[in-house]
Amino acid sequence: MQDKFSINCSKCLRLAKFLNEVKINYPSYHAKPVPGFGDTSSKLLIIGLAPGMHGANQTGRPFTGDFAGILLYKTLYKYGFSNHEGSVSLNDGLQLIGCSITNAVKCLPPLNRPEPNEIRNCNGYLSTEIKNFKAGGGLILLALGAVAHRSVLMALGLRPKDYPFGHGLIHKLPSKLTLYDSYHCSRYNTQTKRLTIDMFEQVFKQINIDLSLTKK
Ligand code: SF4
Repeated sequence: MQDKFSINCSKCLRLAKFLNEVKINYPSYHAKPVPGFGDTSSKLLIIGLAPGMHGANQTGRPFTGDFAGILLYKTLYKYGFSNHEGSVSLNDGLQLIGCSITNAVKCLPPLNRPEPNEIRNCNGYLSTEIKNFKAGGGLILLALGAVAHRSVLMALGLRPKDYPFGHGLIHKLPSKLTLYDSYHCSRYNTQTKRLTIDMFEQVFKQINIDLSLTKK
């Protein structure tokens, strides 16, 4: 049986309690589980870690409204995966093209750190999302960070030791799925130069090459 995502999910008591507190402090914020963005006909599914406090947690759309989204959406636009590069709110007219975005954990965690049981609780939703993609075996998964990488493997019933995380690595998975790894495009990673614009763009360049080859 597949786990069907609900915006009212409260399986993780710690996160549900935290979101209630956030809603009191920021009444206009979404402050609920954040659904994926995009449609299931996409050939590329990007998986982040979890909503950011003033980004997806505020707006209700992954990577929308905070620093991490600026680089991601600029890059998506540059490589033809969206109709413009700005992502500030649900009403900004942004449309993804052949690409979808979700998070491994759908609720904002305190200090951006979900606990292992929360990652497991939410993994059924990610597993259902991946299975629902019409691209099936041709689907490319892009994990932003090690937690997203391990969550994808968990969702597919695969062992992390068989597919270690590393920026720029490309893993050929069973069922003709492909998993790309990138460092997360967080403010911390970009400001410390752990992830540069060029490093991030190289990942999308390679994905575009792979997608063009599968069209032939
Ligand atoms: S993190 Fe996922 S499983 Fe946990 S409460 Fe939020 S939506 Fe539900």
